[in-house]
Amino acid sequence: MATVPDADRPILLWFRRDLRLADNLALQAAVASKRPVVPVFILEDDPPVRGPGGAGLWWLDKSLRALTAELETRGSRLVLRRGEARPVLDALIEQTGAASVLWNRGYEPGLDARDQALAETLQARGVEACGCEGKLLLDPGAVRTKTGGPYGVFTPFWRTASELIPPLDLQGPPKAVRAPEAWPQSEASADWKLHPTNPDWSEGFDWTPGEAGAKASLRAFLDHKLETYPHDRDRPALDGSSRLSPHLTWGEITPRQLYCAVQARLAAHGLESQAQKFLSELGWREFDYGLLAQQPALHREPFKRTLSGLTWRTSASDLEAWRGGRTGYPIVDAGMRQLWTLGWMHNRVRLITSSFLVKHLLIDWREGEAWFWDCLVDADPANNPANWQWIAGTGADAQPFFRIFNPVTQGEKFDPSGDYVRQWVPELAKADRRWIHAPWSVSEADLAKAGVALGRDYPKPIVAHEVARARALEALRATRQAA
Ligand SMILES: Cc1cc2nc3c(=O)[nH]c(=O)nc-3n(C[C@H](O)[C@H](O)[C@H](O)COP(=O)(O)OP(=O)(O)OC[C@H]3O[C@@H](n4cnc5c(N)ncnc54)[C@H](O)[C@@H]3O)c2cc1C
Repeated sequence: MATVPDADRPILLWFRRDLRLADNLALQAAVASKRPVVPVFILEDDPPVRGPGGAGLWWLDKSLRALTAELETRGSRLVLRRGEARPVLDALIEQTGAASVLWNRGYEPGLDARDQALAETLQARGVEACGCEGKLLLDPGAVRTKTGGPYGVFTPFWRTASELIPPLDLQGPPKAVRAPEAWPQSEASADWKLHPTNPDWSEGFDWTPGEAGAKASLRAFLDHKLETYPHDRDRPALDGSSRLSPHLTWGEITPRQLYCAVQARLAAHGLESQAQKFLSELGWREFDYGLLAQQPALHREPFKRTLSGLTWRTSASDLEAWRGGRTGYPIVDAGMRQLWTLGWMHNRVRLITSSFLVKHLLIDWREGEAWFWDCLVDADPANNPANWQWIAGTGADAQPFFRIFNPVTQGEKFDPSGDYVRQWVPELAKADRRWIHAPWSVSEADLAKAGVALGRDYPKPIVAHEVARARALEALRATRQAA
């Protein structure tokens, strides 16, 4: 171990899904200690929880570069290592003589448990180690019903949680981060090959990963979208929501920062109902982390077991048609193609496409969850499985299985002009708004006027809505009878 005076022994600042400098409590503690700081990111070979999917790795690649640049302007660096967390940290402690290791908590039960065990091992060796807060507005364990249990219904959860959020005193990024005498070696992120190849399907990703991109999205949201958010957030053809989800997922901005920014806007300009609507969406994120705390295997195990006996269909061709946006239902296909092109899908269309897989195709929600996990830049360990379970009727406060969205009326309601479909399904670019959500319902002559022949340019529906609906309800009836 390097021999250095005790006050100069560095702190290892372990970045994970918290790739920011502002409102970073672990970084603040490290800088406040006045010790040298060695920022490190470990690409874990054997993570205790699910690692990022393809789109997530794309994001991580760019976000690490952005974080490195931010640290360099403050006289610091980001040390990159690949391997198992424990031996990598051991080696870094050995090489730098670090006195402590700090990180921000992840609130994934498997991750927190591993971190806790790691902290105990390090502390037993005289190395201070601890995880800080900040990823959520509140620790999920802090929001309890009157009887002391966790909430299973969102509205009372958020009412209680809103009252518990303390006044927040946020700090911006530090001006400088003290460098160690000597830097440990770093790997090059280019060698990790996080950018997708074969195929590189990221060409359409129009994102700016990193803290500056997060701040720009927040500014654009406050200045141009907040006022119309309650209405526009449900219109997929409009750019009406914040698009902050990947930045939140990767910890480039915190819900605490969003909460304070929206409260400040509220104080300055009114906008009470708009602000409350947006904050309640952040509330769903908090709620989902509460569910994950109760069911750590949320992406594999139903939160509620009431539908455990449901018999799912296996159909590779239907699954492929859904993934590829070739179901013959324009709003579903538009959503699935938006997902593939942007690594993101509008919330309303996530609801429609997930419902279509689970109910119209009667395919296990876990198949859809896994596809979203791989394709979404915002794939989140709590939000993704919790929302899939909400749709599948197995989640907390979930939509009952017998409520089956009709993709045609959903399209007509939320994409009345058809512009969203026209953007993502160019085969239907010339379709009339009166039939764009149900092209099979008009004559071949009408279709021909829009340059479409069904079955040639655009698929016929892979299943008729009424047939699918009856099949799903029959599966539900059989499950209930068997129970
Ligand atoms: C099947 C399905 C899968 C989903 N998977 C994810 C996922 O992996 N990651 C993810 O962040 N969100 C997920 N969502 C929730 C939601 O679709 C996205 O958070 C939202 O579309 C992101 O866009 P935005 O940032 O513009 O949202 P905004 O409307 O601007 O909302 C602001 C923030 O609130 C949170 N939020 C909004 N809606 C929800 C919600 N329903 N549940 C939990 N948090 C919410 C997000 O952090 C979001 O960034 C999923 C929804 C469904 C139906």
